[in-house]
Amino acid sequence: MAKSSLPFVVIGAGPVGLAAAAHLLARGLVPLVLEAGAEVGQAVRDWAHVRMFSPWRFNTDAAARALLAPTGWREPDPEAYPTGGELVRDYLAPLATSPALRGRIRTGARVVGIARRDHGRLHDGPGRDAAPFVLHVAQDGAVEAVEAAGVVDCSGTWGAPNPAGAHGMMAPGEAANADRIAYGIPDVLGSARATYSGATTLVVGAGHSAMNAMLDLVELARQVPGTRILWAFRRPLGAVNFGGGARDGLAQRGELGSRAQALVESGAVTALAPFLIDRVARDGDMLVVSGRQDGRQDGRIASVRAERMIVAAGFRPDLSFLREMRLELDPAVEATPALAPLIDPNLHSCGTVRPHGEAELRHPEAGFWIAGMKSYGRAPTFLMATGYEQVRSIAAAAAGDWAAAREVHLELPETGVCATDLPATDLPAAGGVAGAAACCAPVVVSACCAPAALPAAKGCCG
Ligand SMILES: Cc1cc2nc3c(=O)[nH]c(=O)nc-3n(C[C@H](O)[C@H](O)[C@H](O)COP(=O)(O)OP(=O)(O)OC[C@H]3O[C@@H](n4cnc5c(N)ncnc54)[C@H](O)[C@@H]3O)c2cc1C
Repeated sequence: MAKSSLPFVVIGAGPVGLAAAAHLLARGLVPLVLEAGAEVGQAVRDWAHVRMFSPWRFNTDAAARALLAPTGWREPDPEAYPTGGELVRDYLAPLATSPALRGRIRTGARVVGIARRDHGRLHDGPGRDAAPFVLHVAQDGAVEAVEAAGVVDCSGTWGAPNPAGAHGMMAPGEAANADRIAYGIPDVLGSARATYSGATTLVVGAGHSAMNAMLDLVELARQVPGTRILWAFRRPLGAVNFGGGARDGLAQRGELGSRAQALVESGAVTALAPFLIDRVARDGDMLVVSGRQDGRQDGRIASVRAERMIVAAGFRPDLSFLREMRLELDPAVEATPALAPLIDPNLHSCGTVRPHGEAELRHPEAGFWIAGMKSYGRAPTFLMATGYEQVRSIAAAAAGDWAAAREVHLELPETGVCATDLPATDLPAAGGVAGAAACCAPVVVSACCAPAALPAAKGCCG
């Protein structure tokens, strides 16, 4: 089939994948969304019980709203904070069934491989860049080849959580005790209530997901005596980033961190900080989790006993089905080299990223992009609004409108925390923005923390 008559495949029907389809349609291109789950928003459905920290005004995409407008869709209150379940019910599900997108989404269709037609990764051959993509799609027990003019991988990272083990690998015994370990944010006040009631649970991780899990457990402990919470961090308590509190541009996000910190300080939760997990064993009904309490390689070994573990230690991208794609990824962050320095938690903790688009997300494989949560690789600070701007820019590039692709606009709320260990001059400049590098320095507020046309943001950058 001629490449021009092929669809543009979007992998994943999460918020960013559906927005990508809307932007491609707006550009006169034909999207085909392949979703592994039984329904759209499959990953978000897994955290349906979690209240989001960004209000509706940051959670919907402009091109998607344009598709929804003629359907009689009522835009939710822009200042209200939905749960994940409400995001699906009030936005993603109506979007997927809108006349424009209906019939362009295949659910239960998992992408298991992508290549250029007749060109493995090694083969240059004539016309490699012009060859269409071939995706292998597993559905109903069979694998089918689907051809595409271009591909936007919006498959997220929810399916690849980081393990509890100190070295980035599963700790010995972690896999063998998987029946007692939950990854992510189980609904401990709802469907998983019986599992955690009256039990001791070890929560692992320091980000917003771990905070959410811990706060729900504290509420459960209030309701069910005997419920205990241990919370393991990689760092000493003084070095844990609980967020910007009242300085956070997203009030809910700031409050989440402040509440978590207060519970640790009050002793309602027993903090193990640092506690680097080396082994998970079983003693009857209990998990015995051993780790180093001072964080040193030759450090003192301690063991804690818990019936359950909740590991909320972040996520990593699944690159396995991209084996035949020519990718360029930062070796640590696993984001593109242009994006990685802007989001690398080793460089700074500012949750705000300079507006970026197709140019920063480009790989050597022309016509293939990774967008959404997965574009951030292992970095933790992704916001949906970032993904919506990414896919607007990518769709513009796919349609050949390079001026619109380059012109990226994004105003993100500050986290209120902005720290870097490096002098500004040591940080890389990106995209020609001198000192995007010095993300937090007032002198580059317009470059990093807010687009030049916008007023300087509050918080660390103000
Ligand atoms: C608990 C939690 C709370 C969050 N709260 C906020 C918030 O308040 N505000 C905010 O802006 N961001 C928030 N985020 C971050 C982020 O915006 C969301 O994770 C968002 O869902 C990312 O959208 P996405 O479309 O990139 O990926 P996802 O929502 O993860 O969607 C990816 C989709 O791809 C599918 N998929 C995966 N692999 C394949 C495959 N091989 N083939 C086909 N389909 C595949 C999945 O089933 C899934 O439906 C939160 C994240 C979490 C985990």
